[in-house]
Amino acid sequence: MVEIRDVHKAFGTNQVLKGINLRINPGEVVAILGPSGSGKSTLLRTINHLEKLDGGTITIDGALMGYKIRGNQLHELREKEVLRQRTHVGMVFQNFNLFPHLTALANIIEAPIQAQGRDRGEVTAQALALLRRVGLEDRADAYPRQLSGGQQQRVAIARALALNPKVVLFDEPTSALDPELVGEVLDVIRALAKDGTTLIVVTHEMGFARDVADRVVFMDAGNIVEEGTPTQIFGAPQQARTKEFLSKVI
Ligand code: ADP
Ligand code: MG
Repeated sequence: MVEIRDVHKAFGTNQVLKGINLRINPGEVVAILGPSGSGKSTLLRTINHLEKLDGGTITIDGALMGYKIRGNQLHELREKEVLRQRTHVGMVFQNFNLFPHLTALANIIEAPIQAQGRDRGEVTAQALALLRRVGLEDRADAYPRQLSGGQQQRVAIARALALNPKVVLFDEPTSALDPELVGEVLDVIRALAKDGTTLIVVTHEMGFARDVADRVVFMDAGNIVEEGTPTQIFGAPQQARTKEFLSKVI
């Protein structure tokens, strides 16, 4: 579903991604772990082309992100085409990033109507079903400031799903939450994983990664150092850097 090939990205002289290769199968749940600054967020942002690549390619369900091939060369897509492509990728951020002036429902229907050109009635019905799915059917008319952090993040997840994305990316979705609100958000993500949604989750919740991920990827300093099943990575990490990281966080 997602194929990341030899992806390089630098900010000035800071090489942040140094040749990332990763294939994610349909329905697979991949957890990305790694220390702060290792390039996890940048990798997620390159997947939906919020960051341009310096080298390498990313395809989603076979479609090259951000580029088209003409002759033998890559040509950048126009902004409008990129925006449309980006709707195939749901993204959930640490700080929810809901529009403060829009209700929960309006937050959810905005992109499907504006960026996908879909019918308001159809999208609204789907949005109400999604609110039910994340346990917020009675909060459709609430504004973000009237919702707890956990509720806001569940709206953000519903918003991501309303695009009918091929993959949903989560960037530390519970890091900004009070501890007692973490569980309700992880439960929603766990249910998505069970339903066969393709998920990439950057997380510091090791218990969650162990329980829910099909595969765990450990990044450090712009490289994938090691990947494997949760049993392999948590039970018998092979690389010194993985062992050191896990010894600090578990
Ligand atoms: P992580 O999510 O693993 O903590 P990031 O991908 O956020 O790591 O950051 C990796 C490196 O890239 C850091 O050194 C960070 O300072 C740098 N970086 C990230 N985004 C930008 C940006 N927009 N401009 C300049 N440097 C950036
Ligand atoms: Mg980050």
